[in-house]
Amino acid sequence: MNYCVRCGAKPFVRATPELLLCRSCFSERIEKRVAKTIKQYNMLHYGCHVVVGLSGGKDSSVLLTILKKISLSGTRITAVIIDEGIEGYRPDGVKEALKIAEGLGVESFVYSYRSLFGYTLDSMLEVPPFGKSSCGVCGTFRRKALNQAAADLLADYVATGHNLDDEAESILLNLVRGDFDRFTRQTRTPLEQDRKSFVPKIKPLVLISQPEIVYYALANGIDYYDGTCPYADQARRNSIRNFLFDQEKRHPGTLLNLVRMQDKLSLSYRDEILPLLTAINPCTVCGDPTDSTTALCAGCKFIQEIEHQKRDQ
Ligand code: SF4
Ligand code: ZN
Repeated sequence: MNYCVRCGAKPFVRATPELLLCRSCFSERIEKRVAKTIKQYNMLHYGCHVVVGLSGGKDSSVLLTILKKISLSGTRITAVIIDEGIEGYRPDGVKEALKIAEGLGVESFVYSYRSLFGYTLDSMLEVPPFGKSSCGVCGTFRRKALNQAAADLLADYVATGHNLDDEAESILLNLVRGDFDRFTRQTRTPLEQDRKSFVPKIKPLVLISQPEIVYYALANGIDYYDGTCPYADQARRNSIRNFLFDQEKRHPGTLLNLVRMQDKLSLSYRDEILPLLTAINPCTVCGDPTDSTTALCAGCKFIQEIEHQKRDQ
């Protein structure tokens, strides 16, 4: 029988072809990488208050566990659970998220789409979403809800559980869509110019792959919620995900190469390009930042459309 190459204990996972590790050495390897990522991208500062968007799923549950464990000096952590209002799916996720936060001794708050925007996601999607996917609509309101929560709680940062796979997918998706604005704004370090209008969003798991997250959850007995959202229909993202999965399997390191390549590109052109991008202005209804060419943010435009269509029904 082989043993953990670091401490000789019972092996748990082969982290790389040469690196067989036990639970504890594997967990330490992941936690160290997260701490290094936070430092490398200058994500947090001493004495800050960070709000973690906790869904109860594996990514955000692992994120909260690691942030608590690596106990960044002077950092205050609060969990915010967003209840989109998805029958048969979200109530169990919310329950799991509350349990996880309580187990870690982290104060948590639930923000629902219904109380913030007047509609659950279920009722929003009764109206045809005029060109947006269900996830596009949901994501628009999640961003608004997290921003609102962070403002209410006087937080300095919003941390989300986006991992390496998600980040590489977004890079490629922005490229194939030709979305230069989003590609340029997709940074690991919060942009200085956006700090004025947003509570900066950080992704401390951005260099941790999906399989590593699953193994970390397993190694640490994290009992996350594994339900499937009935609206999960992101066809284009899924095809990009499958393509990248295949590439990563054949050529390990592909995902990381994409992120590193974007890092290098950003450093070389961002200062000249950013001033040329669509300006961020406050929405005239809710005050949230918007890069829309009209006066309304995407969320307020959507609410107006729902109310318009419901009146005509
Ligand atoms: Fe929202 Fe899409 Fe996630 Fe469902 S899968 S919770 S619709 S973003
Ligand atoms: Zn608005």
